[in-house]
Amino acid sequence: MRILLVEDEPKSGDYLKQGLTEAGFNVDLARDGVDGLHLALTENYELAILDVMLPGKDGWAVLGDIRRAGKDMPVMFLTARDAVDDRVKGLELGADDYLVKPFAFSELLARVRTLLRRGSKSSTTETFQVADLELDLLRRRVVRAGHRIDLTSKEFALLELLMRRQGEVLPRSLIASQVWDMNFDSDTNVIEVAIRRLRAKVDDAFECKLIRTVRGMGYVIEADTAL
Ligand code: CA
Repeated sequence: MRILLVEDEPKSGDYLKQGLTEAGFNVDLARDGVDGLHLALTENYELAILDVMLPGKDGWAVLGDIRRAGKDMPVMFLTARDAVDDRVKGLELGADDYLVKPFAFSELLARVRTLLRRGSKSSTTETFQVADLELDLLRRRVVRAGHRIDLTSKEFALLELLMRRQGEVLPRSLIASQVWDMNFDSDTNVIEVAIRRLRAKVDDAFECKLIRTVRGMGYVIEADTAL
């Protein structure tokens, strides 16, 4: 799931981005309101987290422009201010939640998950299924033939991407940008290694293999229709 984070304070931006990334989200970080708004309007996010006090354009203005453009993803404000007026203003502008700094990262993560659950009513599917393999986004759970499979956050993100676009051959460059947030570098075998680990957990114990390599093209997950 993609999250837009707009935070000008460098340390806190990096820290939040890292924490959310480790929790399995794909995070774009903007350092000011203008860049943040640009990303919000040109990319698709399941959630935006906006600092209120931002250079260029403050969080209120960014939210106003996001809503005027018809984007309805959930928005959470972060602010050092503790004024009730701010909270009311944010909610009136269409913010979905409001977190006062300083906060524990676990608190942020819990609220992010709650907002995503609420926000997913219309646009996002919560569970994916390929043959007897099921991935539950909200509970962060993968089950095959009734057996729970434990994945790292990267493996989960990789499997999520494959399952969201099941039946579609995904090029390695797309996987690199979506899961690792990096440009494809042909010297790295990070994707091959991750696919191998994922297969060991998802496919090895089962007769029917779901993850396929399409030589020279990429990877696809699909039920074996030939059987
Ligand atoms: Ca700030």
